[in-house]
Amino acid sequence: MNFSLKQVADLLQNVSTVILTAHVHPDGDCLGSMLALNEYLASRGKSVKMILDDEVPALYKFLPEHETIGKPTTKVISADLLIVLDASDIERIGKVKEHVNAPILNIDHHISNTKFADYWYINSKSAATGEIIFELLKLLNAKITPTIATCLYTAIATDCGFFRYANTSVQTMRYAADLIEFGAKPNAISEYMETKPLESILTLAKVLETLELHHHGKIATITVSPDTLDTLDSTEGFINYPRIIEGVEIAIMFKVMNEGTIRISFRSKTVDVSKLALSFGGGGHARAAGCAIVGKIEDIKIKVLNSAVKQLAGKTL
Ligand code: 5GP
Ligand code: MN
Repeated sequence: MNFSLKQVADLLQNVSTVILTAHVHPDGDCLGSMLALNEYLASRGKSVKMILDDEVPALYKFLPEHETIGKPTTKVISADLLIVLDASDIERIGKVKEHVNAPILNIDHHISNTKFADYWYINSKSAATGEIIFELLKLLNAKITPTIATCLYTAIATDCGFFRYANTSVQTMRYAADLIEFGAKPNAISEYMETKPLESILTLAKVLETLELHHHGKIATITVSPDTLDTLDSTEGFINYPRIIEGVEIAIMFKVMNEGTIRISFRSKTVDVSKLALSFGGGGHARAAGCAIVGKIEDIKIKVLNSAVKQLAGKTL
């Protein structure tokens, strides 16, 4: 059922046990949104738990209370409500799906959202789920503490490439400014996120050696091998290197995971890559999308490149 933000606010006021979750391969938006909402709900006396089927990457370990995020187990638990944040389909929450037995409220901003929940609030005009959570908290007259401000600023800033991508709106900037007034420290957040162990810079150098250009330089790919992945906490930001090459319209990163799955990230300057990702069972936004495919990297690469070329030619996928 499609909910207004007011209906979401009313629902939150009427539940007492809440579980919060977000997508696997967590990013700043899903983590910041979850931690902010967790702090608000806990302050209202709700029994609230955060469960995520993944690790928190080191670059987000400055976010207050991240260490209280639990993992799903094989036991089934119940609650009045499971809130799924920043995830466009149910598969994105991994094993939390089987672990929690509760009605689902989905709050998201992906254009590719499959409307899988019992109740949903989706606004694809929002640059981040964090923008929606900020609006929701204001509607609830919540006190925006410095920790909530830090979480929401991180959520918003990371999903719009620190105010550089096409989704950066007047509203995005305004919300970020408000969050600074509420205590977020942009320089401290950026500095923490930019600081990397030497090893990850050396690994990036290796990954950049895999750079290939296709289709007259309009498509650029990089490939991350399993042994490279073993030495890394996160590949966040790697896709930016092929993306910024002059003439490149679609950048693709192939991550060869140990279990035979290939995780793919798409970035685009012109075409809608969420369609490309959707055609491979994934999703995302027009300019940033992704999917995961099981198979051999050589075969998958050919298939994905063919589809990307087709899309650049304006053909339907
Ligand atoms: P990234 O390339 O940074 O992992 O993801 C870019 C965007 O695509 C994000 O908005 C993310 O939520 C979405 N995305 C990435 N992988 C998947 C996937 O496997 N399924 C879906 N539905 N969305 C994805
Ligand atoms: Mn997001």
